Amino acid sequence: MPELPEVETTLRGIRPYLDGARVERLIVRDPRLRRPIPPETAERVAGQAVRSLSRRSKYLLIGLDQGSLLIHLGMSGSLRVVPADSAPKKHDHLDLVLTDGRCLRFHDPRRFGLFLWLPETPELAERCHPLLRDLGPEPLGTAFDGDHLHRLGRQRRVAVKIFLMDASVVVGVGNIYANESLFLAGIHPARACHRIGLERYRRLAEVIRGVLEASITQGGTTLRDFVQEDGNPGYFAQSLRVYGRTGEPCIACGAPLRLRRIGQRSSFYCVHCQH
Ligand SMILES: [Zn+2]
Repeated sequence: MPELPEVETTLRGIRPYLDGARVERLIVRDPRLRRPIPPETAERVAGQAVRSLSRRSKYLLIGLDQGSLLIHLGMSGSLRVVPADSAPKKHDHLDLVLTDGRCLRFHDPRRFGLFLWLPETPELAERCHPLLRDLGPEPLGTAFDGDHLHRLGRQRRVAVKIFLMDASVVVGVGNIYANESLFLAGIHPARACHRIGLERYRRLAEVIRGVLEASITQGGTTLRDFVQEDGNPGYFAQSLRVYGRTGEPCIACGAPLRLRRIGQRSSFYCVHCQH
């Protein structure tokens, strides 16, 4: 599933081609995404200039002269910029054709993605759209830090891993990143979030930022894939310290790593290093 670093990498990959671009037309080969693409969408976007490109959580927002496009990659979606006349492959459901002969092509085998035109500007959509308005701060933004986690954490009693993966607390900390960050911060994933002090939350916020940034940097090495036909970027190539390593030795102490379900999600941890 595309996580925040992949969406950020996608944004950086497509930005050079979309900045200042103009939409010629939208080709919809299959409108059946998570929400069906309304038939009038093509008419809404045709002829409009791209005014801005941004990301909020795992949503991409393309600001147009009028309104914006809200895009989510769902479980299996990807976006690439390709020549508009290149033959679409299976599951290439949409082409946002630009006037320069390129197109932004949306590929999504499982069709859980979203591609919606909204009447609002991206700024207004972030504040008001039901999918965006209740989201917590961006983990790489200035509103996210240990103080923020500590302030919210004191009011709840859930396991810290569930707390971290709650999008109203902070967006974009998926299961892999929660596991890796808690290991690096030395915090047991099942520890109640109200029983963690400010200093530990400050350390946790720092490592979350570091883990996500490292992942984005890795994704950045595959940017060329966005203009190639067969781009299949290895986003999760970064070495994982605990995720998926049940029974393998902890890289810090050598003890076998444990697996436990916390809130329906697999949690990997070291009993010696995480408290
Ligand atoms: Zn250990």
